[in-house]
Amino acid sequence: MNSKYMELELKKVTSHLAKLVSKGSFLRGSPVIMKRVCGNPNCKCATKGKLHKSLYISKNKDGKRKMIYVPKDIEEEVKAKLKAYKKVKDLTEKISEINYKQLELKKKKGNV
Ligand SMILES: [Zn+2]
Repeated sequence: MNSKYMELELKKVTSHLAKLVSKGSFLRGSPVIMKRVCGNPNCKCATKGKLHKSLYISKNKDGKRKMIYVPKDIEEEVKAKLKAYKKVKDLTEKISEINYKQLELKKKKGNV
C-alpha cells in the first residue's frame, strides 16, 4: 500500500465515519432475543408453551451487564442503532490501522 493510496483510503473511511457520527444515532450493546411468557393465562405462551420472543439489548457498563427490553414497535430502529455503533467502531479501528501504516512509512523514510 503506497502513501497516496493510504491518503485516499483515509479520506474515504473518515468521511463515512463523519456521516455516521453526525447522525448521533447509535447504541452500544448486543442484541439478544429472549423468550418469555406474557402473563395472560389464556395465551398460547401459557397454554401451548409457545413463548413470545422479545428483543433485549445486552449492555456492559462499568463491568456490569444490563439487559434492556426493547418494545416491538421500535425493534427495527434499535437494531439499526446497534449496527451503526458497530460500524462506527469498525471504521475508527480502520482509521487507526491506516495511521499505523503511515507511521511505519514515515519511520522508513526517516522522517520521524
Ligand atoms: Zn403470551
